[in-house]
Amino acid sequence: MTRKTDRVVLRIDVGTGKIQREIIAEEDVRTFMGGRVLGDKFLYEEMAPGIDALSPKNKILLGVGPLTGTSAPGTSRYAVHTKSPLTGLFLSSVSGGYFGPEFRRTGHDLLVIEGSSEKPVYILILDDKVEIKDAKEIWGMPTDATQEFIKEESGSTKIRVACIGPAGERQIPYASIVNERRVAGRGGAGAVMGSKNLKAMAVGGSKQVEVADHEAFKSAVKHAFQDISKNPRMREGFTLYGSNLGTSPLVAGGIVPWRNWQNGTSAEAKELFPETWRKKFVKKDVRCAPPCNVKCSKINLVTEGRHAGAISEGPDYETVYSFGACCDVSDIAAVIEADSLCDRYGLDTISMGVSIAFAMECYEKGIINRDDLGGEELRFGRSDLFPKLVRDTAYRQGFGELLSMGTKRMAQILGKGSDAFAMHAKGMEIAGYDPRGAKSVALVYACGPRGGCHKTSAGANSLSMAELRTGEARFSNQGKAALTKASGDKRVLSDSMMMCVFVHGSVSNEASLELLNAATGFGWSQEEAYAIAERGSNLERLFNVREGLRRSWDTLPARLLCESPGNGPNKGQVVELEGLVDDYYRICGWDVETGIPTREKLRQLGLEELLDRSLT
Ligand code: SF4
Repeated sequence: MTRKTDRVVLRIDVGTGKIQREIIAEEDVRTFMGGRVLGDKFLYEEMAPGIDALSPKNKILLGVGPLTGTSAPGTSRYAVHTKSPLTGLFLSSVSGGYFGPEFRRTGHDLLVIEGSSEKPVYILILDDKVEIKDAKEIWGMPTDATQEFIKEESGSTKIRVACIGPAGERQIPYASIVNERRVAGRGGAGAVMGSKNLKAMAVGGSKQVEVADHEAFKSAVKHAFQDISKNPRMREGFTLYGSNLGTSPLVAGGIVPWRNWQNGTSAEAKELFPETWRKKFVKKDVRCAPPCNVKCSKINLVTEGRHAGAISEGPDYETVYSFGACCDVSDIAAVIEADSLCDRYGLDTISMGVSIAFAMECYEKGIINRDDLGGEELRFGRSDLFPKLVRDTAYRQGFGELLSMGTKRMAQILGKGSDAFAMHAKGMEIAGYDPRGAKSVALVYACGPRGGCHKTSAGANSLSMAELRTGEARFSNQGKAALTKASGDKRVLSDSMMMCVFVHGSVSNEASLELLNAATGFGWSQEEAYAIAERGSNLERLFNVREGLRRSWDTLPARLLCESPGNGPNKGQVVELEGLVDDYYRICGWDVETGIPTREKLRQLGLEELLDRSLT
């Protein structure tokens, strides 16, 4: 018998069909909050070190946080934890949309999926009723058709589905999980689902999400919405342009990387500014799901030309970077089509676009040739090849077989010095902010637990913008470790409360804490909330240490360390990483020689006993 305030784990072994429920100890909820940090704890405890990410021993943990499914703004989110097939390290990936709140309304807080099914299946959770269903008919379908089929089969339009496409089925290491048109994109959680023959999770719930103090919560929600309304960046800019809002100042500062990071600007840069293309392509401003009053998502439709008919909820800034600037493409219609195809096939747009850009440079340098490409010339700017390249990657066919491996593995296979410009960190393709012009971002990529991801910080976007406002100081290493650490802690907190990072950036610390305490009744102080975030970062670090990670792994591609951008305002700049990493480790309480969290730091966080377990 569960109480309304209990936090519940639903454990499903898709191999044996065994289904169990457990209550999470209240002390664990108080210590690890929910969402990302609670997922960190379960992932660390449940996974043996050294397992193959695509073996039945890997697990998928899908969790929500204390605010998911409530009326607090920006809280329609869930987090997926697993071991990444792309990096072989820790992975947590967050998605917005309707799926997270609906899952919580089934009366569960964490779904743990274990084992591997012999045949394709999907999981259907309707409140307490859980079924593992045959997915023979939907295996092979793209993500949009899969969602429609399951809704129809279940007879309920209220059901929400998170699923994989053909890329996940083929275990492409950067395959995503897609719910509605939202994506848990980075690091290959979709491939882990594919390795389990698990096509989808479908949820429908009728339970009320309880908060500890209704009146206090109502008042906290009011304060949070007031904070958002007072912020002109959210009220105006973000509603108009979403995550593309900063493109123009980022281009002016040379932060947007062009031609696989060879250049810091382009004569055609303006074509990528949302101010240039919004009117032509944006058909509707939408929110990922209520409750949010921002509507940062854009439904884009191409109505004419080669890409006519392409429709996408996006592209976000990162996709404009990866398929646009990085591939030296200024045709936004081509980027919209590539975005839409990646979502349908279930591929991460950053890894896909950056892998294509890497291949373009390999082609131009003679490392690959027309024979490798079925007679095509894969030069920078060839956006006409995007649909074929994306499709071939998702189906692992033709040249897509190589692209599907990601840049690190591609460079290992191709050799000839290509690793110097394979733009990844720890195997994950780097997001679109050039640290040569904003030094704090170097640490985001080099030391981030999941590799070259911008989400190690509260946003490499906001970090870059903050750096740009400091003028020449952005080229200095001074004070950057502290900036990155603070931004990273805030991010972990956002992902644990499960509040959208854009919204959390607009809500004051006081209002955030008010929400958390009214929802949980735990009475956390600001310091305690941030200590939980630090606990998460250290758990993630320990997970990676246990996999063998040491200081030498915290690095960047040679292009960023030894080569300055060929043009733009950051010409002459490289990243001098070692001093930055020293500073960062000291601030984090990690040993400067090894990068391992110190015993003292772990003692402060109540994690000391994990140190020896991580080193054996
Ligand atoms: S700001 Fe955008 S992404 Fe965040 S909750 Fe609102 S609509 Fe969703």
